[in-house]
Amino acid sequence: MSPSHDDGAFPHLGLAGGSQRRQLLLILGDQLDPRYLGHAGFDPHFDAVVMLEVPEEASHVPSHRARTALFLSAMRHFALDLRDRDIPVHYGRLDDPDNGGSFASELRRLATRVDAEALTVIRPGEWRVLDGLEAVAADLGWRFQMLEDPHFLSTPEEFSAWAKGRKQLVMEYFYRQLRKRTGLLMDDAGKPEGGEWNYDKQNRKALGKRAPDRPEVPRFEPDAVTLGVLELVERRFPDAPGSLDGFAWPVTRGQALIALEDFLVRRLPHFGDYQDAMKRGEPWLFHSLLAPALNLKLLDPREVMAGALERYRSGDAPLNAVEGFVRQILGWREFIRGVYWHEGRDYGERNGLEADLPLPEMYWTGDTDMVCMRESLGQVLEHGYGHHIQRLMITGNYALLAGVKPRAVTDWYLGMYVDAVDWVTLPNTLGMMLHADGGVVGTKPYVASGRYVQRMGDYCGSCRYDPGTRTGEDACPFTTLYWDFLMRHRGRLGDNRRMAFAWKNLDRIDEDEQRAIRQHARTLRGLGAAGG
Ligand code: SF4
Repeated sequence: MSPSHDDGAFPHLGLAGGSQRRQLLLILGDQLDPRYLGHAGFDPHFDAVVMLEVPEEASHVPSHRARTALFLSAMRHFALDLRDRDIPVHYGRLDDPDNGGSFASELRRLATRVDAEALTVIRPGEWRVLDGLEAVAADLGWRFQMLEDPHFLSTPEEFSAWAKGRKQLVMEYFYRQLRKRTGLLMDDAGKPEGGEWNYDKQNRKALGKRAPDRPEVPRFEPDAVTLGVLELVERRFPDAPGSLDGFAWPVTRGQALIALEDFLVRRLPHFGDYQDAMKRGEPWLFHSLLAPALNLKLLDPREVMAGALERYRSGDAPLNAVEGFVRQILGWREFIRGVYWHEGRDYGERNGLEADLPLPEMYWTGDTDMVCMRESLGQVLEHGYGHHIQRLMITGNYALLAGVKPRAVTDWYLGMYVDAVDWVTLPNTLGMMLHADGGVVGTKPYVASGRYVQRMGDYCGSCRYDPGTRTGEDACPFTTLYWDFLMRHRGRLGDNRRMAFAWKNLDRIDEDEQRAIRQHARTLRGLGAAGG
């Protein structure tokens, strides 16, 4: 048996050698809900929980230090909570010198000490993990049992039945189906609350001078367990990107509930109005910041939406805010997960626009003259966080316009955000952001020039570039690349009716300027100025 690695705050938790167990319930780092035990028919007399910290999960893509720390700290707090409930837990620690490095090697090591009949998992958040676990269970002669994840309101099966025969998967229709089935935001007559399904048109305000003050967001100061994890992450992953300074994410269910209440009371009322706004030096605005806790399963989406609905019913939050928030959770979150499992293992390999550039260095350093990129990348490096418009319309839009290889972008998104898990980042990035899935998720690419950034935030006011200029020294790279993107992909996207307006505007630019745009774009894309 390996030596114990107790550090006081987090003692060694292990099963005695020679144990016999009916089932080992593997709880992954993003499955921190004790109700899974009931779901698996767990009996502490015959079964045991297994939790494994393995370096592979923190390094198969470069992972932000804060993301790794959040997962490890939340896992350790969860394991201690199980121990306090007298649940037998085998916890494989990252700082165990015998740690085999991967789920497979750690389970093989466990199998030498524990005699088990079955390995049970709740559906993991990634094909790679699911396939790996199934293979190792077969290897060890353990019956493999995968249970659907009751955290979500829909199942992959329901999604596939809905998707069958549809040419395009439109989130809005899946969202409406779930609204009807769950009754969420539906009135007594079975109609959408307020008469409309979607209040997005009211949710595009920029943060003008009269915008309300942004409240402070709650910080959860690291306790002894988290401090141990922060030190461990610095030591084990010295080359990992991102900073741990100021780490203050909720790592327990109790903290997650405080974060939820804080959002509902202080930010939800303005969440809708300003959900697309961007402002220098203000990473949080009125966003919920609940995705990390939701994706680790510290919070249940039902309780989160119920809280928002309560604020609406009591008159404390307007319908456009509450519907916009519910659409993110019941709509986007469920839809995106459905796409992930429905589209299958090869989804991550698609490259519909044949983009092949490497990821620009600034994604790792934040070093650029583009204020919008510097702000958006800087806060990801600092906090592991960016809100959805920064992800889609700044860092994502740039990668799409420049033609960065989808795999390089999807790996960056998976590693760099504290809330990132493959089921959520892959379809959002590859499908929605990069239009690399051939139009499965989005009916058209979400491309925008610097004019959009100028409208939605205050970045451009302090930038050396001019969002209205397409060529020359002052040209905004977003604007140049936007027109270049249209020219490069006209053959492929020319028939897309939703882009008719863009083609019309492109045709207004004379040939000389089009040539100059192409040449400038080549330089921006690192391809050299020649050949325009
Ligand atoms: Fe970004 Fe262009 Fe605006 Fe500068 S001018 S902040 S590069 S959109």
